[in-house]
Amino acid sequence: MDKEHVKKLAGDPKFITGIYNYCDRWCERCPFTSRCMNLALVNEQFPDQESRDINNETFWRGLSETFRLTLDLLKEAAEREGIDLDSLDIEELAGEERFNEEVAESHECCRAAKVYGEMVDDWFDSARDLFGQKEDDLNLNVLPEIPNVGPLGEPDSFEDAVQVIRWYQHQIYVKLMRAIRGDLEEKPEIFDEFPNDSDGSAKVALIAIDRSIAAWGEVRNHYPLSDSDILDLLAHLDRIRRKVERVFPDAREFIRPGFDKIHLNS
Ligand code: SF4
Repeated sequence: MDKEHVKKLAGDPKFITGIYNYCDRWCERCPFTSRCMNLALVNEQFPDQESRDINNETFWRGLSETFRLTLDLLKEAAEREGIDLDSLDIEELAGEERFNEEVAESHECCRAAKVYGEMVDDWFDSARDLFGQKEDDLNLNVLPEIPNVGPLGEPDSFEDAVQVIRWYQHQIYVKLMRAIRGDLEEKPEIFDEFPNDSDGSAKVALIAIDRSIAAWGEVRNHYPLSDSDILDLLAHLDRIRRKVERVFPDAREFIRPGFDKIHLNS
């Protein structure tokens, strides 16, 4: 793959610009696979399951080629925009990044999201007895492809519910970290007229929370014996949801390219 090819792909109107910036990376369930340049590049680079295996040499070769290509494109863009890549104060930037990371990690939303991830593991560990025979049918740690989801992403079945919970279990924390870090880095006087990336990340986290709440509701219907534990999880998720909405009051209104509006290039 060369940079001219990437530029040609980027100019193809069938792709929705930046759609992959605010998605949940669940490509198997994405309604925009044919319009996502990121997925097209991954499929070109790693055409089959075997080449996507991180233990595979082809995977690392492909990744190092992507690294070289990204640097080439970065240099070209820097020249075009007049950005001096050598002038960056690495020390100062690294210090700032470390500080923002620490602030984000200690933020109430992120701490609560991390706890949620652990609560989910605890629940699945303690529910093994409840699952009994079902555990053999349903691998609780792996996400098989079961394309069985409602139009709004709500789970249609118990198996779907487990997949939804597992998919978003840690993603909520990751997206909230990005939202809080972004909020610290955004400069209001410059970006006032543009939508904030932090709101976009917070929206993806909120959607993940909403879907997880729906999925736990489904699990609850199947396992009434575990009701009080599930209610704890639901209450915890609901608290995170309300807190995120208070910290990012504009997040729900953020327009994600493709997902929240029809793209003009369609
Ligand atoms: S937009 Fe869809 S296809 Fe593209 S990376 Fe995100 S989930 Fe995958």
